[in-house]
Amino acid sequence: MFESTMMDIPLTIDMILDRARHAAADVEVVSRQPDRRLHKTTYGAIAERTEKLARALIDAGIQPRDRVATLMWNHAQHLECYLGIPLAGAVIHTLNLRLHPDEIAFIARDAQDRFLVVDEVLLPLFEAFRSQYPFEKVIVVGTTKPLPPEAIDYEDFLKRGTPGIALPKIQETDPLGCCYTSGTTGKPKGVVYSHRSTILHSLVTALPDSLDLSMDDCLMAVVPMFHVNAWGLPYTATLVGTRQILPGPFLDAASLVDLMETEKVTVAAGVPTIWMSIREELDARPRELKARMVVGGAAAPEKLIRDFDRMGLQLIQAWGMTETSPVGLVSRLSPAAQLLPVDEQYKLRAKQGRPAPLVQVRVCNEEGEVPLDGKTSGELQIRGPWITQRYASGVVDQRWTDDGYFKTGDVANLDALGYVQLTDRTADLIKSGGEWIASQVLENAIMGHPAVREAAVIGVPHPKWSERPLAVVVLKPGCKANADDLRDHLAPHFAKFQLPDAFVFADTIPRTSAGKFKKTDLRQEYCNWTW
Ligand code: AMP
Repeated sequence: MFESTMMDIPLTIDMILDRARHAAADVEVVSRQPDRRLHKTTYGAIAERTEKLARALIDAGIQPRDRVATLMWNHAQHLECYLGIPLAGAVIHTLNLRLHPDEIAFIARDAQDRFLVVDEVLLPLFEAFRSQYPFEKVIVVGTTKPLPPEAIDYEDFLKRGTPGIALPKIQETDPLGCCYTSGTTGKPKGVVYSHRSTILHSLVTALPDSLDLSMDDCLMAVVPMFHVNAWGLPYTATLVGTRQILPGPFLDAASLVDLMETEKVTVAAGVPTIWMSIREELDARPRELKARMVVGGAAAPEKLIRDFDRMGLQLIQAWGMTETSPVGLVSRLSPAAQLLPVDEQYKLRAKQGRPAPLVQVRVCNEEGEVPLDGKTSGELQIRGPWITQRYASGVVDQRWTDDGYFKTGDVANLDALGYVQLTDRTADLIKSGGEWIASQVLENAIMGHPAVREAAVIGVPHPKWSERPLAVVVLKPGCKANADDLRDHLAPHFAKFQLPDAFVFADTIPRTSAGKFKKTDLRQEYCNWTW
């Protein structure tokens, strides 16, 4: 038999840590602490503490595959947990602190988390659900006050590990981390990433045509480490040896822009809401910034991309889901796209993008795969080595095709250059008089009006058409526009039946914990609308 002569070395967290221990040992990790001071450390120091954490967990009885939860902001100790919990053979379960306490308890119970590592500033949140789920041990980070008797300080915990204790041998298919879906259409469901899927995702997202991270960069992940592992960026950055800036609990535009300026951030990542508030901050107080900014989690309107270009900042749209680790698509201009007129280029950059290497996508409707016309819509389906093939805890869901693609629930089209454009979630499509109307396309167009800060479009019951679109619009401070202005702005780009029948002006639009429009709340609020 003729066989490969290559070494069979498992792709595990150790490979990421090796970079932190050696080639990137002197690279800085800077975190904003709750008292606003900057804490500076290096990957080398983090690697050392990570090993202490792993040994302390094992000493405290954590077994391979046990779940250890975190309830923390973005900072160096959270990064230590990202690395140290899997190094102990255990599974890091990042709890989303923006969820309702009951929901956090549900998720912790579903995952059967044994220990919790929690920021001191989040202890009040923990208090709100602690009676609903008994963690065996609570480890507190950033302790400044006396702790409750059953809790232990993180620094003291690190000292507990027996230095010689052996770390478990990990297989690349072993579980490394676990996140729950945002559960907009039912109970949250667990997705479990493996060591292998995490390493492959990190390698590919670092590529120049993906998120493009290298040792020359300075990354600020604004996307929280409790939401889909901050898009995997803490792992990618450590694997590559990128300097990291972790903003802690301060996610207001002024604090973020301040960090971008003083720490010379070259790559930042966050949801559109973050960039919208940063646009307002920079409009009010212009600064000299030069960064690529990855935007995902919800659609980035073309106007936002254009506005940032004028400020010398490049917005790069990416698409993903909890189920996809998350990066699946990235919208960068291909060589062919760069030859197109500028307006066409902006249209492509406002699409969700082309698949990352190792990921396959297709768009299917009842007739099969849609033609590459950038128009015909169907459901986006995806498969690849970091796409989940089931949910955890035995949840059964009909989300996979017979040939192994994951059905995303996103409605999309595909163009001849291979760009996917999302037009809606299947659940958010509006059916008016038998015709489908895609709400996201309308929203993005409304957000292209200079007076509009944000807009969400929902279908509201209608006696004749069954549903008609209603737009909830938030104007920029000091700006004016009425329903006629917005309708005139949309009219050249849409069929008449697609235009919203009503525009409601509001102060805010409710959002989910992950920054997406909470359309369930809006539908509830406007369900009795009289046309
Ligand atoms: P989550 O699992 O909470 O990250 O949510 C995943 C969903 O967010 C996707 O199925 C999309 O509906 C939406 N999403 C993510 N990225 C984008 C994007 N760039 N544009 C539009 N929607 C997005």
